[in-house]
Amino acid sequence: MTYSTDGFFDRYGGKYVAEVLRRPLDELEDAFRYYMQDADFLRELDIIRRDYIGRETPLYFAETATKLLGGAQIYIKLEGLANTGAHKINNAIGQCLLAKKMGKKRIIAETGAGQHGLATAAACAKLGLDCTIYMGEVDVRRQQPNVAAMELYGAKVHAVKSGSRTLKDAVNEAMRDWAAHPDSTHYVLGSALGPAPFPDIVREFQSVIGKEVKEQCRERGIDIGAMVACVGGGSNSIGFFAPFIDEKEPRLIGAEAGGIGPGIGENASRMTGNASREGIMQGYKSRFLLDEDGQALPTRSISAGLDYCGIGPQLAALGKSGRVEFTAIRDKEALDAVSFFAKNEGILFALESAHAGAAAMKIAREVPSDKAIIINMSGRGDKDVFITSPVFRPAEWLDFLHAEIERLEDKKDIHDARSMQG
Ligand SMILES: *Cc1c(COP(=O)(O)O)cnc(C)c1O
Repeated sequence: MTYSTDGFFDRYGGKYVAEVLRRPLDELEDAFRYYMQDADFLRELDIIRRDYIGRETPLYFAETATKLLGGAQIYIKLEGLANTGAHKINNAIGQCLLAKKMGKKRIIAETGAGQHGLATAAACAKLGLDCTIYMGEVDVRRQQPNVAAMELYGAKVHAVKSGSRTLKDAVNEAMRDWAAHPDSTHYVLGSALGPAPFPDIVREFQSVIGKEVKEQCRERGIDIGAMVACVGGGSNSIGFFAPFIDEKEPRLIGAEAGGIGPGIGENASRMTGNASREGIMQGYKSRFLLDEDGQALPTRSISAGLDYCGIGPQLAALGKSGRVEFTAIRDKEALDAVSFFAKNEGILFALESAHAGAAAMKIAREVPSDKAIIINMSGRGDKDVFITSPVFRPAEWLDFLHAEIERLEDKKDIHDARSMQG
């Protein structure tokens, strides 16, 4: 079941949208099917992947981690080495190139923490497309480093002031914009969810990760026992798993955000959590964290990228069939995994990806030592310094922030920098 049937994966998926969005979605589906068979398109995409994204990304043998964990051989797929620091660029570049072929001049996207907005802004800069990013006003305020980067790439960041002023509202606003400008504009959705055909499109552009892993393992004779990825909306995991879904082996494991505990509002565990329900939201049927009235519940995770109330429909179906196993990883376990891989391997995981790292650490001894566990490191952790520093070295971080504020209030440095710019 790699591809959906009429937009459905078993009972999940679909295209639950207002009539005005049907035509742009159908047009997108036709173009996608056409260009994925077009040799020129695929060649152009391959060259961009190689020279701009930096593919293929390495499959790294974590020798010290393997010794310390005392079970399976631990390998890490270093998606964090992709340009812009995470896997999101794979999808952003693919969709932007497709949009360009379709004659669209303008790109819009939603973003929560800002990672997808950043990847889309970069892709638009590279491909010469006009870019507007919808982002909840609350997120704009707390994710200024990413907003600054998007603006450097030339994107307009539109702060959404409706609803809870977070990701869900940004999606609604982007959908509204697309419905109003379907001819000029393409909406780059950031994860393997939303109305069909987005779950198929995003999986296909992200499946470059899994295809590389399969080839790298074949070349090096690596026998895979299990593959582990973190699951927010599900784009890095489904892309990583894709070439293995229709096979019986290896074990495929998705790590969700266990947050601070199993209570309502304490996590983002859509597959294993207490409030996990079937529902229809934002154009697709899947599993969500909902209250009894079907309203989205608040979620919680130390990692912004996993802090979302829905999961992609294909993963929901694969969870139901048992092909993909799900586990919830707590904030504390993810932080421990960040430290473990940083100290022992010199690799700094993003907090999202550290959920996959933590899950691998837990099952290392369940897998025999002649087999491998492959962790998808979806992104690198440089972006998380504002979250990890207050935990790992709170006093020094507070001193640093005070000193920064003093420096800025002094304004001398700013004037110096401005005058240098000319
Ligand atoms: C956004 C993000 C995720 C979660 O999104 P998926 O669609 O589930 O992959 C995971 N890791 C990183 C580094 C991210 O930026």
